[in-house]
Amino acid sequence: MCWPSQSDFATLQTRLSQLLIAPTPLAAACYPPALPTGNCTDVQHNWFNSLWRADHPGQMQAPNWEAYISPNGTVLDVCPMNATLEVNCSQGNVPVLGVDARTPKDIQAAVKFAVKHNLRVVIKNTGRTPVAVLTVGAGVQWFEAYDAVYAHGRDIVGGVTSMGSVGSVGGWIGGGGHSILAPKYGLGVDNAVQFTIVTSTGEHLTANAHHNSDLYWALRGLGGGSGTYGVVTSVSYQTHPAKPLVGGPFTAVVISTTNSTADKLIEGNYQRVADTSLTQVTNASYYLVAGGAVAKADPDSAGINPARHKALVHTVAGHGWANDASLENIISAKEKVKGFTRSLERLSPASGAYFNEASLYYADPKQTFFGPHYEKLLAIKKKYDPHDLFVVTQGVGSDECDPSLTCRV
Ligand SMILES: Cc1cc2nc3c(=O)[nH]c(=O)nc-3n(C[C@H](O)[C@H](O)[C@H](O)COP(=O)(O)OP(=O)(O)OC[C@H]3O[C@@H](n4cnc5c(N)ncnc54)[C@H](O)[C@@H]3O)c2cc1C
Repeated sequence: MCWPSQSDFATLQTRLSQLLIAPTPLAAACYPPALPTGNCTDVQHNWFNSLWRADHPGQMQAPNWEAYISPNGTVLDVCPMNATLEVNCSQGNVPVLGVDARTPKDIQAAVKFAVKHNLRVVIKNTGRTPVAVLTVGAGVQWFEAYDAVYAHGRDIVGGVTSMGSVGSVGGWIGGGGHSILAPKYGLGVDNAVQFTIVTSTGEHLTANAHHNSDLYWALRGLGGGSGTYGVVTSVSYQTHPAKPLVGGPFTAVVISTTNSTADKLIEGNYQRVADTSLTQVTNASYYLVAGGAVAKADPDSAGINPARHKALVHTVAGHGWANDASLENIISAKEKVKGFTRSLERLSPASGAYFNEASLYYADPKQTFFGPHYEKLLAIKKKYDPHDLFVVTQGVGSDECDPSLTCRV
């Protein structure tokens, strides 16, 4: 049996969620000694650091196991960390090829490939910490997910509530998912690497960058209304190394109506912002869940309205009523919200709104919630929900139903 061809590996690659990896011995960074190709100081410093080793695929915890010694004891094949020994750096026992397995399917593909080509398989646990993933099933709330990742020294982008009550699979991710960690790591949709979902045809599908990639794109921010494509059964989220974090809500109290106060709040366009926030939308809250990593993501990489990735700030203004309010008072409160909505639309007409924290009174809900992604989202919905089972208020395809969402019109 021959070593697989490039075409065989290319075929394998199409079945994997991650790129194939080609590990080299860690000490290869120190060669050639006269002009090292990598950070040899780093290698020397961390040589016995188990966490550092675990972060490098193909390496072993005890470096001595990386040396290959022929059965008759005559050949030593190794890459010594001490590059001054004037021996060649060889691959030793470090595997030449690796599969960065994130899903059962990755493992299935790798095992089938190895069987077909008669290759030896080495199973390695742990792996590259920067890309660890947490899969949460529907029903798991954020406080449970936080406990799970914190226990492993990781952070995750999730909803912020006093009790962590928001679901980690469902509306939050369906709407895009904002978080105080979003400027650092992106929105929820930027961190969701896979969904499993039951569609109206009864299939239990997996959607990621390689399988049902159109559905994966749509599920990452279908503008809210998570029930538009089916019932999501799990979401896999990328996690991040835990960092010391001090956070909390703060309130900017505008104590003056002068332009200079508004100027300090938001630079540029401050006159209009000041007019709106000081005289029209008087009780607005501003959430700093945009910019940074959110702005760096490709706005078309997920179904979410591109405006979400381009936003500077997420603004929320509401007006409530008491439980025993009269109808008159309720209508009056709704009129106030309509007024806030119109003011914010005027202030930023080309922007959008977060479906999960939105008004029902936008002039053009399709544009506001989905922007230029609407038609594509609709086409994907028709493909995966041919029975039109899943419809939510102002969600994709909802305008093909009567206002009660009972019948098609
Ligand atoms: C106290 C509080 C704090 C919040 N904080 C944040 C925050 O920090 N960041 C943020 O982005 N948002 C926040 N939100 C808004 C929150 O994201 C939305 O309310 C979201 O819709 C809640 O989703 P859920 O699944 O928990 O709730 P649900 O009400 O159960 O579901 C909301 C929608 O999702 C659908 N859905 C639920 N589960 C599934 C599923 N498995 N498959 C398909 N569809 C499903 C439902 O049909 C419904 O349309 C907060 C809300 C509250 C009440």
